[in-house]
Amino acid sequence: MSAGFGKSFSGLQGIKSIEDFDLKDQKVFIRLDLNVPMKGEPGNLEITDDTRIRAAIPTLKYAMEKGAKLVLASHLGRPETPEDRPKYTLEPVAARLGELLGCEVILIEEPTSDAPKALLPVLKPKQILLLENVRFEKGETKNASELANVIASYTDIYINDAFGASHRAHSTIDALPRLIAKRGCGFLIKKEIENLGMLMDGPKKPFLTVMGGAKVSDKIKVIESMMEKIDTFLVGGAMAYTFLAAQGLGVGKSRVEKDKLSFARDLIKRIESRGKKILLPIDHIVADDFLAPTKIETVDAPAIPEDRLGLDIGPKTRELYRKEIERAKTVFWNGPMGVFERPEFAKGSFGVAEALATLAQNGGVSVVGGGDSAAAAEASGFADKMTHISTGGGASLEYLEGAKLPGLEALRIVRESVAPTF
Ligand code: ADP
Ligand code: MG
Repeated sequence: MSAGFGKSFSGLQGIKSIEDFDLKDQKVFIRLDLNVPMKGEPGNLEITDDTRIRAAIPTLKYAMEKGAKLVLASHLGRPETPEDRPKYTLEPVAARLGELLGCEVILIEEPTSDAPKALLPVLKPKQILLLENVRFEKGETKNASELANVIASYTDIYINDAFGASHRAHSTIDALPRLIAKRGCGFLIKKEIENLGMLMDGPKKPFLTVMGGAKVSDKIKVIESMMEKIDTFLVGGAMAYTFLAAQGLGVGKSRVEKDKLSFARDLIKRIESRGKKILLPIDHIVADDFLAPTKIETVDAPAIPEDRLGLDIGPKTRELYRKEIERAKTVFWNGPMGVFERPEFAKGSFGVAEALATLAQNGGVSVVGGGDSAAAAEASGFADKMTHISTGGGASLEYLEGAKLPGLEALRIVRESVAPTF
């Protein structure tokens, strides 16, 4: 580690953990990412996937067991005007949290209210406070000090466990912790950074990555940052057609990023010139139309007929990719292999998910990043058998791109003169 403190910090260095504090009777503010998808109308909203709420539970249970007096906060969606409030209320989240924790969750209607100051001292053991959607306050996304000051006025210890929001320099993520000396991270952030760190620092080889999803352009930075470490690249999803087109193959009506053809061509060259491997789909599931696919067929060749578009990898590619994945020791998956939201085009992604589960069960490491990939992993039924599925979406990708996450940087204690121990 270099002597120039601060600059060379990475991972969890200089960041305290919730376990480093004595929480008994302390007023502990925990920033979470409870930004869950919902359906239905205001007044009758229903959570469709509570993964992020469940991911917050270990930290909350720990804090409650240690006797902390808790104030929780999260954002939800992107409310713009006061009229948006009923749609973006945390009410359903409060109810679900209460069920999971077996306690009473009291919702504070104004995130900027100082009501917690009066309520915290009289809080009973099975009661916790939850601020309404912090984005109801305009200052949140502006990293304003007003909201931060109000919260700091009633907070002894600040804990960030909102991994999925830590790539945003927002008030409760960035400005607030800088005001509080006793600050650290919760168990979810710790788990995320440890698992993503495994990919960046000396992954067990061979290291394979499965790349897919909507666009090449979304993934260029991650690919560039991890390029040297990866031994094998498997490509699927819409991204694959840009790579196939770059090879001069017909891709029919499939989605191609014309301005990324030369990047794709160059990447293939760079990978192969280093003696590494890149595999593209050798067959496809195609249809005649994206929105109303009626003629769904398998094309048993790398090229796609002119009047068809590719919507998933085919059965031979599935088998090829499964074998490659099971031969690796570390696998990172980002980007679904097809339009997995429709069962007709989900087999490619579910096949990758199954192979990742098998790998983890055989002692390998399999990590999933990206919001849609995480959703595909969950839908496959193999999620709990993988090493780690990041709850981070954009945050996990930015972290792997080598970017500094504001939410982590704000937690680092840089004034201590001794090297941190973790
Ligand atoms: P992640 O969120 O995991 O990073 P992306 O956002 O890059 O993943 O990509 C996910 C989206 O890509 C999904 O909505 C999926 O339907 C779409 N997709 C995958 N394959 C195709 C394809 N062949 N054609 C069109 N869209 C595709
Ligand atoms: Mg996505």
